[in-house]
Amino acid sequence: MWRELAAVGRHAASGGYRRYAWTPADTDCRAWFREQAAARGLAYETDRNGNQWAWLGDPSAGDAVVTGSHLDSVPDGGAFDGPLGVVSAFAAVDELRARGAQPRRPLAVVNFGDEEGARFGLACVGSRLTAGRLTAEDARQLCDADGVTLARAMEHAGYDPDAIGADPERLARVGAFVELHVEQGRALDLTGHPVGVASAIWPHGRWRFDFHGEANHAGTTRLADRHDPMLTYAGTVLAAREQARLAGALATFGKIAVEPGGVNAIASRVRGWLDSRAADEETLAAVVAGIERAAREGGLRDGVAVDVVRESFTPEVEFAHALRDRLAALLGTDAPAPVLPTGAGHDAGILATAVPTAMLFVRNPTGVSHAPAEFAAEDDCAAGVTALADVLEGLACR
Ligand SMILES: [Zn+2]
Repeated sequence: MWRELAAVGRHAASGGYRRYAWTPADTDCRAWFREQAAARGLAYETDRNGNQWAWLGDPSAGDAVVTGSHLDSVPDGGAFDGPLGVVSAFAAVDELRARGAQPRRPLAVVNFGDEEGARFGLACVGSRLTAGRLTAEDARQLCDADGVTLARAMEHAGYDPDAIGADPERLARVGAFVELHVEQGRALDLTGHPVGVASAIWPHGRWRFDFHGEANHAGTTRLADRHDPMLTYAGTVLAAREQARLAGALATFGKIAVEPGGVNAIASRVRGWLDSRAADEETLAAVVAGIERAAREGGLRDGVAVDVVRESFTPEVEFAHALRDRLAALLGTDAPAPVLPTGAGHDAGILATAVPTAMLFVRNPTGVSHAPAEFAAEDDCAAGVTALADVLEGLACR
């Protein structure tokens, strides 16, 4: 499975993956998923939001145990974030069959579309739509950097954007969702465990900061006469770091757009996107408020107008305690599997509002994610598959 996926959407120069929603690389990933379903004799379907499902047993029977993740990537992402969960899901189905386990509940492998939000700026679009956490109208209007709407992009890839929307009937068939994911930090590397169980996902959001200044000549405009939004932006980046450090939170400006973007011109506008996360919503709100305050104070000093727009927000997710404890018990016969929180968002976090949901993490010795250095050793991936098969067997076959 890894060999077949390895080349799809890989950028030769960076070595990273560029598998964005509704692009040819995404189409290739989807074709791969469909082939994997067919090769195992699993019943394949695409739901109204373009998420892919492969069923073992009767989907309409209800109380299904579902596992999977996503196949899309961030710009120049690593090989494991997403695909590890989908590959492990298919491998766990193989493992259950090899064990001769007889599922009493329907089992499904799922690939949620557009999880990273790399193209349209909003993460987890496929699962958000399904769970009714994003309206069809709002989704259809999402726009990529070239001005292509999500609706047009879906149409272009052969999907019907008029069909998208909440899918309560489908969710009602799901009794439990378990997402296996590469760890996006080094907690497991430090504890020495190949596999862990998630406790919670930190609340997180994205904010757009617009700094409006005045374009002018870099060689003739006196410093005192400038309204340079780059200065205000730079001060805001430093403030973000300080606010996050003081609160034990995270704040990152990782994307910026500068107009007009000339080397010899003072910028007229700098647009920066803030990603911030914290252990609880109160802390997160305080951190972002502190950053916004610093931006506005800087704007007053520099003669730069500042607008702040919250583009997305995902509340704290605490995974179902019963399911989480069941997983830890199923995996912890010899030594208990560690239970850890994470700062990364996942489809599991979206689904957790509607169905009992849990996550398994597989050790990532580099701790790096969303970059080509993201890694999981083959032995650890195999341990992840065994753990996932144990969980599926425990939930669906006993
Ligand atoms: Zn992911």
